[in-house]
Amino acid sequence: MNIDDHAEDLASDLGVDKQEVKEGLENLVEYSVPIDEAKQSLRRKYGGGGGGESTGPSAADIADIDTESGSVTVTAVVLTVGTRSIRYQGDDHTILEGELADESGTISYTAWEEFDLEPGKTVTIGNASVREYEGRPELNFGESSTVEPADEPLDVPYEVGGDRDLAELRAGDRGRNVEVQVVEVETRTIDGRDGETEILSGVLGDESARLPFTDWNPHEELSEGASVRIEDVYVREFRGVPSVNVSEFSTVTELPDPIELGGPTRMALRDAVGRGGAYDVELQGNVLEVRDGSGLIQRCPECGRVTQKGQCRQHGEVDGEDDLRVKAILDDGTATVTAILGRDLTEQVYGGGLEDARQQARDAMDQEVVADSIREEVVGGEYVVRGHLSVDEYGANLEATAFRPADDDPAARAEAFLAEVDA
Ligand SMILES: [Zn+2]
Repeated sequence: MNIDDHAEDLASDLGVDKQEVKEGLENLVEYSVPIDEAKQSLRRKYGGGGGGESTGPSAADIADIDTESGSVTVTAVVLTVGTRSIRYQGDDHTILEGELADESGTISYTAWEEFDLEPGKTVTIGNASVREYEGRPELNFGESSTVEPADEPLDVPYEVGGDRDLAELRAGDRGRNVEVQVVEVETRTIDGRDGETEILSGVLGDESARLPFTDWNPHEELSEGASVRIEDVYVREFRGVPSVNVSEFSTVTELPDPIELGGPTRMALRDAVGRGGAYDVELQGNVLEVRDGSGLIQRCPECGRVTQKGQCRQHGEVDGEDDLRVKAILDDGTATVTAILGRDLTEQVYGGGLEDARQQARDAMDQEVVADSIREEVVGGEYVVRGHLSVDEYGANLEATAFRPADDDPAARAEAFLAEVDA
């Protein structure tokens, strides 16, 4: 059934104007309120009571709940509670999100009212509706649901509370707590839902990983180098990697002892690609090929895209600006990624700057010679590339922040051996 059909049904049930009902439904659905919840909300608004929609929820084990379950009643331990604000019909509305568990399994939830949910407590939730969230069932409960302390506490084989290392965070996580060092932070002005707003963005680190973060309601404790505990953050995907979101509901406490930073995570290419992206990783492999579009290139002065024969895909014929980059195919036997080196790293590999490249191209009357010089230098060699990996419809791209020959490069090893023999 689409919204129109739902509106038609509901309007005739309640004896009110269909258009009005439809607008009400659309408004709620736009804010991710499940359709059943939205209809019940409108029934209450127009005084229509429960109506014939509900089939009477049955008590369910979490493991048995699927996206077709409709309405259910569950008894479960609250594992985590995250708080978030959404704007709904012009008003800010506080919702709670997190995970619940019983002996059979765990499930995510969204509570559309501020119910008394506390990590570790066992509660019985009556008349929760099940909807699909990223392909998995999720419990939704609101005005038409009940949340009561359970008679008997459940003992569940899952960790209560939201404390996690950065490496354990996944997009979609909510109500998480982290202890981190602020590696980088800057203030930015964005065009938010209340007009121009200042936010903080940067990088957080702990021993396990580094991840980008955004603080939508700047906390002054998040200053560069500070070690802090941040409670109640949620995680979204940003360019293929998990990004930590700090909100007005998050609490930030300075820690007495500094949080140590680990190095970048070393991963096999297959694992990094399989994760759908990774922030600040180190990948080691052989450079199989330096792709077209490397060496001396031209970028559109408007948008920065690389131009082909003076043409920008977006802006047509433009007077391109010279730049240097390398797109190198890296392979470790498990998978391949394209490592993208910006101007600074390219200059290191090329052994010269933009002016040298221009001169070389002028002498040869062909700018491809710059890429050829880079090919001679790196193709066939084994390298360690540090950077941020994103995986999308354009492939697996590693935006490099460092590029160096592998210590255990066979050629380097052979050279070292020869040096030893010579000695
Ligand atoms: Zn352009």
